[in-house]
Amino acid sequence: MDARNILAENGIRPTLQRLQIYKYLAEKKNHPTVEHIYSDLLPHIPTLSKTTLYNTLNLFIDKGITAQITIENDETRYDANLCSHGHFKCRKCGNIIDFPHDIDLERSELPSDSTPEQAHLYVWGICGNCKD
Ligand SMILES: [Zn+2]
Ligand SMILES: [Zn+2]
Repeated sequence: MDARNILAENGIRPTLQRLQIYKYLAEKKNHPTVEHIYSDLLPHIPTLSKTTLYNTLNLFIDKGITAQITIENDETRYDANLCSHGHFKCRKCGNIIDFPHDIDLERSELPSDSTPEQAHLYVWGICGNCKD
């Protein structure tokens, strides 16, 4: 499905900047930080400001078309892959790779009376490219 439809269907007016930001997230699938997105897009969108970028990302998150992931405490990353998946982080190259995974909360012994809102699976290790 194309980016314009995804934005429109989620009640987001598809301005040129929003489209470019969404396409970047959906196509790169590299779980970028806001700094990454900004430096990659600036050559294509010279008028882009960090404030606009933050506002746009927050809008995407509000509308549920982008997820915020925090695999390490100090860095927030953005992910437009909304299928249920886990994240594998390579200790050597630092790449974060998606893998299909469904967390089955029904089978987890959550604290009684709690209401789960989000669950993530993060796996650390060495990716195939970095193996000797
Ligand atoms: Zn690696
Ligand atoms: Zn992901």
